[in-house]
Amino acid sequence: MSIYQCENCGCVENTALGHYHCRNMKNMFLNEEKYLNKKLCSSCGPKFYKDGKPTEYGKWHNRFDRHFYPKGKLYTDHNGNVRDIDTKEYPDNDLYRDIPYEEQNQEEV
Ligand SMILES: [Zn+2]
Repeated sequence: MSIYQCENCGCVENTALGHYHCRNMKNMFLNEEKYLNKKLCSSCGPKFYKDGKPTEYGKWHNRFDRHFYPKGKLYTDHNGNVRDIDTKEYPDNDLYRDIPYEEQNQEEV
């Protein structure tokens, strides 16, 4: 399992919980043009499969707190951890913005 930054909202997500492993799958999700080839978190991932059935995405999984960082400022290192693209250091948690869980499920891609 690795950690990555969501390309839509900038939060830090785990590959096992987010949309990461489904990002290249075609003919799987409704409105796939919004999701294809994008590394998205569970909250920003597609809400429906192509047949209209709901996915596990579209809401934060709440397995850990959702932390945000400026979009495009993190990369995943060879150990699977995120680092700041400029400083190469682990991101400063003080820069994270915590959002109450109730507000985390409001975002749309
Ligand atoms: Zn996201």
